[in-house]
Amino acid sequence: MLSKRVQGFTESVIREMTRLNNLYGGVNLAQGMPNFAPPKELLDAAHRALDGEFHQYAVTWGTPNLRKAIAVKFEKFYGISVDPERQVTVCCGSTETMLATLLGILDPGDEMIVFEPFYENYGPGAIIAGAEPVFVPLEPPDFTFDPDRLAKAFGPRTKAIIINSPNNPAGKVFSREELEIIANLCIRHNAIAVTDEIYEHIVFDGLRHVPIATLPAMADRTVTISGISKSYSVTGWRIGYAIASPEITLGIRRAHDFITVGAPHPLQEAAVAALTLPDSYYAWLREMYQAKRDLLLGLLEKAGFKCFKPSGAYYILTDAAHFLREFDCADDTAFATYLVKEIGVATVPGSSFYAHRELGRTEIRFCFPKTDETLREAGQRLLKLTHR
Ligand code: GLN
Repeated sequence: MLSKRVQGFTESVIREMTRLNNLYGGVNLAQGMPNFAPPKELLDAAHRALDGEFHQYAVTWGTPNLRKAIAVKFEKFYGISVDPERQVTVCCGSTETMLATLLGILDPGDEMIVFEPFYENYGPGAIIAGAEPVFVPLEPPDFTFDPDRLAKAFGPRTKAIIINSPNNPAGKVFSREELEIIANLCIRHNAIAVTDEIYEHIVFDGLRHVPIATLPAMADRTVTISGISKSYSVTGWRIGYAIASPEITLGIRRAHDFITVGAPHPLQEAAVAALTLPDSYYAWLREMYQAKRDLLLGLLEKAGFKCFKPSGAYYILTDAAHFLREFDCADDTAFATYLVKEIGVATVPGSSFYAHRELGRTEIRFCFPKTDETLREAGQRLLKLTHR
């Protein structure tokens, strides 16, 4: 009874792990969402918005107040001026933003380059748009790419490339030099850079996030996607947005209009309070997450995991090959299931981030947007792996 389209989808492994976690009463380090409160300014703004006049549909591509706040913030952080009337589209989370973008720019038969490992939604996104993903590996331990291999992936059918920086699951932050290589290829092949920058403010060790839109000649061929979920700890509010040229924006808005009509109106109004938080908020956010990264890194290493130290985002990818052998697990999924059932910690099996699933067959992803107490509890439980 099902369409060929959805037959190609596998269930989201991330959400399946959350389900198993609830079943076994584990500590959930699978689905990347905070278990602590968002900033009070947002909650106050949401209460005010609900008491206001925002109960009917907003303008389909976003309330004027929010689009303006997005444009002002982008210019303040990255120095590019954006016209909120013609260049900003607000959607239901960055996931819908990505889907509306892909539907807005891709035709069946087009190719779209995706770095691997990648966040699980890009695959179904490409399938829905009828486009063909072409994968280019990011190679551990530092998850760089081979420029020649990337150049070979570009061809006459390449319409777009997805860049997710900081990257989920590897925590890689693309350097300006790497982005220049990608930008030059986009320009040479007349391709669009579609960037998922949802972790833009979660960058460690003094590194800086560089949006590829800020590189010469890239603003008009880039769709910059972000949202409020991760920067302000409100993944359930479902407010994401795209910044693009007026021409591309038209395509994104047309698709978005027929997918969801619009994001929740009161929460769009409340999101203005997030985007206008002072600079000190972002310094606090970076420090808070860097401390959590260091805490979980220490706990995982103590428990015997081989970690790839992330430079951004809030995940730690690990190589657990030795544990798979020791616990007689055929693959990452078997080991992740063992972890949640027997150890009481939910994680995400690495292969869910690869189209070539064998590449992630020994990898396990942990997330750390959790209270220190939760992280320590997980660390304590994981010690059972080596001290039985
Ligand atoms: N972005 C989050 C993660 O990667 C949540 C994703 C999801 O629910 N699919 O864990």
